Amino acid sequence: MLSKKKFKSEMRQRLREKYAMEIEDASSQELFNVLGSVIKAYYSDSWRQSWKSYLANEDKQVYYFSIEFLPGKMLKSNLLNLGILDVVSEGLAEMEIDLEDLANVEKDMALGNGGLGRLASCFMDSIASCGLPGNGNGIRYDYGLFKQRFVDGYQVELPDEWLSSGNVWEVRKESKAVDIQFSGDVWMVPDEEGHLKPVYKNQRILRAVPYDTAMIGYQNKRVNTMRLWGIEIPTSEEEKYTSIQDRRQFEDLTAVLYPDDSNERGRLVRLAQEYFFVSAGVQSILRYYLKLKKPLSCLSEYVAIHINDTHPALCVPEMMRLLLDEHGLSWEQAWEITVKVMSYTNHTIMAEALEKWPIHLMRSLLPRMYQIIEEIDRRFVEKKKLAYGSDLVERTRIIQNDQVHMAHLAIIGSHSTNGVAKLHSELLKQVVLHDFYEIYPERFNNKTNGIAERRWMQLANEPLSHVLDKHIKKSWRKNPEDLRLLLNYLDDPQVLKELAAAKLQNKEALARYIKETTGIKVLPTAIFDVQIKRLHAYKRQLLNLLHILKLYFELKENPDTAIHPRVFIFGAKAAPSYTYAKAIIKVINEVGNMINNDPAIGDRLKVVFLENYNVSLAERIIPAADVSEQISLASKEASGTSNMKLMLNGAITIATLDGANIEIRDAVGEDNIVIFGLTEQEVYAYYENQDYSALKIYEESPVLQKILNAFVDGTIPNIEFEGREIFDSLIKYNDEYFLLRDFDAYCQAQAKINEWYQDPQQWQQKSLINIANAGRFSADDTVLRYAEDIWQLNPVLKAAEKEPR
Ligand SMILES: *Cc1c(COP(=O)(O)O)cnc(C)c1O
Repeated sequence: MLSKKKFKSEMRQRLREKYAMEIEDASSQELFNVLGSVIKAYYSDSWRQSWKSYLANEDKQVYYFSIEFLPGKMLKSNLLNLGILDVVSEGLAEMEIDLEDLANVEKDMALGNGGLGRLASCFMDSIASCGLPGNGNGIRYDYGLFKQRFVDGYQVELPDEWLSSGNVWEVRKESKAVDIQFSGDVWMVPDEEGHLKPVYKNQRILRAVPYDTAMIGYQNKRVNTMRLWGIEIPTSEEEKYTSIQDRRQFEDLTAVLYPDDSNERGRLVRLAQEYFFVSAGVQSILRYYLKLKKPLSCLSEYVAIHINDTHPALCVPEMMRLLLDEHGLSWEQAWEITVKVMSYTNHTIMAEALEKWPIHLMRSLLPRMYQIIEEIDRRFVEKKKLAYGSDLVERTRIIQNDQVHMAHLAIIGSHSTNGVAKLHSELLKQVVLHDFYEIYPERFNNKTNGIAERRWMQLANEPLSHVLDKHIKKSWRKNPEDLRLLLNYLDDPQVLKELAAAKLQNKEALARYIKETTGIKVLPTAIFDVQIKRLHAYKRQLLNLLHILKLYFELKENPDTAIHPRVFIFGAKAAPSYTYAKAIIKVINEVGNMINNDPAIGDRLKVVFLENYNVSLAERIIPAADVSEQISLASKEASGTSNMKLMLNGAITIATLDGANIEIRDAVGEDNIVIFGLTEQEVYAYYENQDYSALKIYEESPVLQKILNAFVDGTIPNIEFEGREIFDSLIKYNDEYFLLRDFDAYCQAQAKINEWYQDPQQWQQKSLINIANAGRFSADDTVLRYAEDIWQLNPVLKAAEKEPR
């Protein structure tokens, strides 16, 4: 165990070695770098030992392939999981250094857009914390998700140069590099035994170099690896590049993360990225496996590969390629192995987000992949036609209308397909993937998402964590289910008071941050009403705004309207090419300007849109939230995870029956959540009957007329263009996400929130019930279910290690 004394001398020592400096002279950045290397040295033994023990025990490994990872900052999380957060924090304090200052130096690692990438990172934390042998596999983008600024209320995107001051946590492993082959013609030429072998012409060889980051388990001495691949041009290949542009084209393959989580723009680079990290990952897995000296036929007993959404679906043909071309297996042998190794998570039912690639693209960039996919498709059709008829087979085959359907490839090429919440998994079976469910009913299962409660409670919310420790002791830190112990204090006025005080403290901190970053002064005693997530039409930030405008007009007309002061807080990035989402950002900002500066409104209503929503900002906002907005159109949000984070931190959810909101309702009961709006069946009934008319609702509602007209009649200033776009989307284009239909119900739900808040004790009790029931959404449980049902992986952690320390 690290002592304070040892830690301090290590800090001094390394600072001298690295920068030839004393503590007093070092900048925060220098201190952060040195602290990082001290910590890295501290866990490097466990990192090596974990790997050695996996090897020695021949533990089955899971490799989680994800095109996005969104870990945020890692300093405090590493310290917490190593069990040295207090030692380090106190040791620094004795040297007159504030840990928070150093923590703020670290740049968010934002190699993801939103929920999908954050889930991958919560899983990395949980897989290590549960002692599961698991590894991440992804891309080391040079630039993370863009940095968002607002200029005149408009979103402006700036590059996120997250590597500009180096990255203390990563280790470059040159010796583990692998070669990746792109493009070129493939000729199938018979070898001596008459087997057809591919011969490549005109190909480019690129080198994938791994950068490993330690994924530290929670106080269990397990350290796993997140391996991100960077691209390089091997020296032997350099003469092939005739111009700088040509070189750049390849070198820039891993430059940027696609800032678009739902629309595939059909870009060649994206496809190249997918193949790049898939091929690198699968090749290195096989290289590891061969060291075990086991036959390839046993691969699935030692290796599981998880395909997180369809971006890594090329794992299927790439594994086939390696088994066929490099290891000489027959198609049947290779296929059996591949299907057993692979599993797939579906994250969306939105048709436009289901990934498809034009054949000509796939064929020109990845000819061998395309050949193999064609053969998988041909065999699928041949085999299933007899049993299921040609209609169903035509609908489920991989190649249709000159496109490769990546979800179909993932389902056909794996043994498990899961959705991410109960409703979502049902919709997959009954609607979206129903045809596949007919063919492979045994492959479908549900794994409701979860969150790393260590980050979202222990790190993000110290005030509340201390209240919990004081009353229910510390076991919840290891076993979030123990948060249930809090239910024993439901009627304890002292505990309720302390919970309220912790919330207020967090709200005061957020109010300071809001003041500093936006200049807006908000009352910490107001209701903090929070909607934080990617800006997307289906998530319906606009519905939230319509209600804000309703309140505003009511207060203007009748200044005596009884409402508790409210601060509406937004955080959201829009994909740069998504003009409609950007119009909504602009309009929220202009409505905010109008309301925040209206002296007739004062403190009763504020609208705050914080810039650059990311993991670190989420950690500031969530502990301060009173109300959690989860108002997507029913059936559209696969799960959601911010709903879980906010509930854990004691916010009351206002929600549609969508995604995991349903499970939150089941956990807390109807009295402790506000549910409103169309159900998924009602939404589908509208689709079926085609009888929705937004215009009719508008014409029959004077309130909606006033609100919607404000977008186009100059009431809201500076939105001439955007206001029209939004108005038209609702009226002219018939309101694709049924905002107007849900509007009244939403306003009633909001009125209920206002009413509940009038009774502080009752509110605090509801909040307590939410906290107490959030344990079931621990990502630890989620990954254990994946491990048991899908990966067939045993936790290597001994029971004794799971006991609270
Ligand atoms: C949790 C999280 C998300 C996911 O939010 P949803 O509301 O579930 O879509 C997105 N971005 C960040 C930074 C997060 O922390």
